[in-house]
Amino acid sequence: METIAERLESALHDVRIAIQESHRASNSVQLLAVSKTKPVSDIVQAYEAGQRLFGENYVQEGVEKIKKLQAFSDIEWHFIGPLQSNKTRPVAESFDWVQSLDRLKIAQRLNEQRTPHKKLNVCIQVNISDDPAKAGIMSGELMEFAGHIAMMPNLNLRGLMTIPAAGLSEHELRQNFDKMYGLFEGLQQKYPQCDTLSMGMSGDLVSAIRAGSSMVRLGTAIFGARQAKI
Ligand SMILES: *Cc1c(COP(=O)(O)O)cnc(C)c1O
Repeated sequence: METIAERLESALHDVRIAIQESHRASNSVQLLAVSKTKPVSDIVQAYEAGQRLFGENYVQEGVEKIKKLQAFSDIEWHFIGPLQSNKTRPVAESFDWVQSLDRLKIAQRLNEQRTPHKKLNVCIQVNISDDPAKAGIMSGELMEFAGHIAMMPNLNLRGLMTIPAAGLSEHELRQNFDKMYGLFEGLQQKYPQCDTLSMGMSGDLVSAIRAGSSMVRLGTAIFGARQAKI
């Protein structure tokens, strides 16, 4: 059995190799450790191995973990799951980032509920595979949606996040990632503060980094397989 520290080291190694192969700057990709369904003790192990960015998918679980780990004040907490409008408040109050923004109503509530002295960093989730069953806005609606977000005083628009459809071929996946990079470049031109393209998970991080990802979100690779959520 590998420890979490060993798996983290090995994931960081994979990220470094992919960065080198793409001739990108050594610090151009951040690693978000996705700790959903995993116990606080796992997060502490990753923290002690140097990890500082953690991602959670479920509001109640995430908020409880943030509370328990308050002493670890340099952890940056990213909300990456689907968000219902009646659950925005705890997210606005506890998390540093929301990467899964895809509805105006949710954005408005987060903006209202955020304490004004510290902006909430947000990424817009894009449904890059145009899959009607998937979350995220369609690519054609991105710029109009971004225009609304950029106007909200308590949100800081940082970039884009995507989860490609399941079961794509390597070629289709690469096409999706390239399309995302194109959208990200367009967004950056209009909103130069955007520095985050969150794409790539345990199974596709190499392709994502080659296509220009600046943040990979790794769960299984660091914490091992998850129990199915009941
Ligand atoms: C669970 C999850 C991940 C991590 O997936 P792994 O395949 O375990 O690396 C990344 N991003 C999102 C949005 C997730 O929900």
